[in-house]
Amino acid sequence: MRLIFLGPPGAGKGTQAARIVAKHGIPQLSTGDMLRAAVAAGTPVGQKAKAVMDAGGLVSDEIVIGIVADRIEEADARKGFILDGFPRTLAQAEALDRMLEGKGLKLDAVLELKVDQTKLVDRIVRRAEEARAAGQPVRKDDDPEVFKTRLEAYNRDTAVVAPYYGKRGQLTAIDGMQPIDSVSQAITDALSVAAQG
Ligand code: AMP
Repeated sequence: MRLIFLGPPGAGKGTQAARIVAKHGIPQLSTGDMLRAAVAAGTPVGQKAKAVMDAGGLVSDEIVIGIVADRIEEADARKGFILDGFPRTLAQAEALDRMLEGKGLKLDAVLELKVDQTKLVDRIVRRAEEARAAGQPVRKDDDPEVFKTRLEAYNRDTAVVAPYYGKRGQLTAIDGMQPIDSVSQAITDALSVAAQG
């Protein structure tokens, strides 16, 4: 199964993708996680990406497309994957099409988590507080001001990606404002519909 999760930062893509990983045994390919790992390891990609990420901007298409192209070649991605945080621009969506076409692969579903953006800043502040209380590191870009920049980047560059898939009839919208378990159930239902189609 090959899936894409779309939705603004803080919509719950990572949480829901992790649940599908547990259920279906396919890897979650989060470009944000891969980039954070590259920053932590101090690789050339990490060195280029760090300042942009800290400021809440988008890392260049070239870098991100490169890491996804490498990652989907790995053995664990052969039976499927969940893309979380990619594609974030039309250029990335088109590059993904070419990558999949080149391998004779298709997407099974594109799920868009729809949320009320006015509630997202509160959600992100809570996420930071919970991480802090649990003694976990708090993401630098979960600072409210940086978060607003991330949201702007989403609305400017990423919001066009959902209609790109919608035009092909591949998009399913999910109400991401429901409780976490209800969102998971809606996703399970959407996936069983996609499996029948
Ligand atoms: P995330 O964990 O998905 O919120 O990503 C954290 C940060 O990594 C983003 O704010 C961007 O700076 C960068 N990033 C992650 N995925 C992408 C992508 N597909 N395109 C460009 N930048 C990305």
